[in-house]
Amino acid sequence: MGCGKCNKGKKMSDSNNNFRKEEIKETSGTISKKLNMIQSFATALTSRGLKNEKVSKATKQLRVLSCFGNKQDGGVLPPCEYLRESSTPGKHFCGGCGCGDRKGTWLVADGEEYSKLDYPKLSCPLHMPGFTNYTPATPDEAVSPITRRHYIENMQYKDIEKVKVNLFDPPKDQNNK
Ligand code: SF4
Repeated sequence: MGCGKCNKGKKMSDSNNNFRKEEIKETSGTISKKLNMIQSFATALTSRGLKNEKVSKATKQLRVLSCFGNKQDGGVLPPCEYLRESSTPGKHFCGGCGCGDRKGTWLVADGEEYSKLDYPKLSCPLHMPGFTNYTPATPDEAVSPITRRHYIENMQYKDIEKVKVNLFDPPKDQNNK
């Protein structure tokens, strides 16, 4: 079952036009999938407590491209098919990782707030660029319709640099929670 079916929240991208639809490869069985998700989330939360470990600007730019695409900035890359609109206006969460819709799982939170894409260690169910478990595209991903991962990997550096991101320190009172 694709994770798009097991999470609430409005899809951000109904037609990915020239891009290939991607399936999240699940580990066998519900329990191991759940464990996988919990382990990934725990690792991400713990990572924000590590001293001087802040995600780099380039890494966050790649994460934003992976999740949100760049159509909002005049590009052609649509949002990830697993990106979901939160029930809280203006917020988004990943519908592929099973973490649900709440403040702690919003990919980008309020203006000056440290949020999920700021965690130094963060996994993506699709292993997209910028995430800790990123795996490079295979040659077949270059065959039309191409994958979003292949597209990002072949972007000009100057275009990646245009992605607007803010970098924040983790909240001091919440380290390791
Ligand atoms: S974390 Fe990965 S699967 Fe989830 S919305 Fe972002 S790119 Fe898509």
